[in-house]
Amino acid sequence: MLKLSQTEKHIIENSIRDIKDFPKPGIIFKDITTLLNDKEAYGVLMNHLYQRYKEYGLDYVAGIDARGFIFGAALAQMLGVGFVPIRKKGKLPYTTISEKYSLEYGVDEIEVHIDAFGKDKGARVLVIDDLIATGGTAGAAATLVNQTGANCVECCFVIGLTFLDGIKNLEQKTQVYSVIEV
Ligand code: AMP
Repeated sequence: MLKLSQTEKHIIENSIRDIKDFPKPGIIFKDITTLLNDKEAYGVLMNHLYQRYKEYGLDYVAGIDARGFIFGAALAQMLGVGFVPIRKKGKLPYTTISEKYSLEYGVDEIEVHIDAFGKDKGARVLVIDDLIATGGTAGAAATLVNQTGANCVECCFVIGLTFLDGIKNLEQKTQVYSVIEV
């Protein structure tokens, strides 16, 4: 499996901006808009994800609302598989299943369309988001994927925050990969 070189890692790390005290005091918000508008960093990241996941035999990439959509939709297209949005409650028009979770700053609920991963059971799904903090969001997303009858084979993040137990907790449920760890 292709590993990121130190140079590539630095390109990605240096493109992410820290915003202190957003959205509330004490939080250092990892702003990935500065990665997205840096074509070199965005390219290095997406190429790395493509190289990692091209042999996984995935059927779908599921992105978590909203920043997971950006990476997930691009990756699904590169891999030639379908993309599924996992959305905040009340946004999806068809029949959904939902799961509540707590985040680093608040409580929320996410949903997925009941038929999003096709009629056949056991579709291989990669869940993707920009960042894992407590792991609450991704844990709920993995649960939702599995509840539809599909199989969450891995959760992938651009940034993994290692000072919380999110990664360790999520690893009880599924495989976890973070491109960079902070
Ligand atoms: P969690 O459920 O605690 O793992 O939180 C992950 C979700 O909240 C992801 O969708 C992130 O985009 C967002 N999030 C949590 N903490 C941060 C942070 N420090 N910087 C940027 N996004 C964050």
